[in-house]
Amino acid sequence: MSTGSRYTGLIEHYRDHLPVSDDTRVISLGEGNTPLIRLENIPSEIGRDVDLYIKYEGLNPTGSFKDRGMTMAVTRAVEEGSRAVLCASTGNTSAAAAAYAARAGITAFVLIPEGKIALGKLAQAMIHGAVVIQIRGNFDDGMRLVKEVAEHAPVIIVNSINPYRLQGQKTAAFEIVDELGQPPDFHCLPVGNAGNITAHWIGYSEYAGMSTQACAFCGGDCKHPCTAVSDKRPVMVGYQAAGAAPFMRGAMVDHPDTVATAIRIGHPQSWDQAWKVREESGGWFDECTDEEILAAQKLLTSREGIFCEPASATSVAGALRDIRAGKIPEGSRVVCTLTGHGLKDPDTAIKQCEGDMLTVDAELDAVKHVILDHLA
Ligand SMILES: *Cc1c(COP(=O)(O)O)cnc(C)c1O
Repeated sequence: MSTGSRYTGLIEHYRDHLPVSDDTRVISLGEGNTPLIRLENIPSEIGRDVDLYIKYEGLNPTGSFKDRGMTMAVTRAVEEGSRAVLCASTGNTSAAAAAYAARAGITAFVLIPEGKIALGKLAQAMIHGAVVIQIRGNFDDGMRLVKEVAEHAPVIIVNSINPYRLQGQKTAAFEIVDELGQPPDFHCLPVGNAGNITAHWIGYSEYAGMSTQACAFCGGDCKHPCTAVSDKRPVMVGYQAAGAAPFMRGAMVDHPDTVATAIRIGHPQSWDQAWKVREESGGWFDECTDEEILAAQKLLTSREGIFCEPASATSVAGALRDIRAGKIPEGSRVVCTLTGHGLKDPDTAIKQCEGDMLTVDAELDAVKHVILDHLA
């Protein structure tokens, strides 16, 4: 029987580049294959001639790029016979772990910082049946606890320190090259733990036939089939929130704070790898204030129809600043990753638009006046 061309997730699609065998039971929700949207209005509004694309990772099954890593991590956990996974999370990792664990029929334990997780993410973790443990502490405390407790319990950590996570996430870079025919000149990402920027670099490097970071097959000396698809790699640019910017400080930050809760991280787990990415790609780190982040979120929703969560907008906030300043020169092709969907954090979105809503009587005249006044 023909299987047609139904898309069944990134592991099937990029099987040759991933640590799975023919007998592996793949735990997938059809993640990956996300849209690469060319911005039509913002570049001309800022008066710069750039070819600017959004990789809209919010359209993954649980609404963030974490699904790319989680399909790999949970697939491998199940293959190894594990019956439970564990993570610390600012929200999206817990949502993804909960969903993929449900799909696999295993248990997800998730540690979240009390009161600092966006509403949509909490709803996801709970409705998928994860065991949600709120801690009186931040993400970094949760991460420390996860590492400690995994030594005392039969659970597999599915944070990005799990090497299979980055293997899954590197496929976002493959998709971009496959679609554009070559890598962009610049790739801009929000940075928290810096796993995703590291994963993208692994992906671009593999496609360029020059893998330099440790890989899940062999620990560095890659022998798996990776044909050179392109001969260049992009400049990688990582943006942090100003209140949680250890890469800018050059040191860990003990009390990170930002409206962009997904990147409210002071002790990045992929610290060394991310510095290496910056060095090898000729890129840089920079920081954005909460005001800049929220302004970029609003700009994307109102001018391009693209709704992302605050952390995601950090990539666009930073990129637009660097494009205006000429640090990213005109004529460049730029990809910004929007890591998570705007619906994850409805509270912050509504708070931004308070006062924008009108309430009138349920009468023709009242409604008509509002419309005609608005169009006048
Ligand atoms: C996890 C996450 C990030 C940060 O990714 P890292 O790999 O930790 O750098 C950014 N944005 C969103 C929406 C996330 O969920």
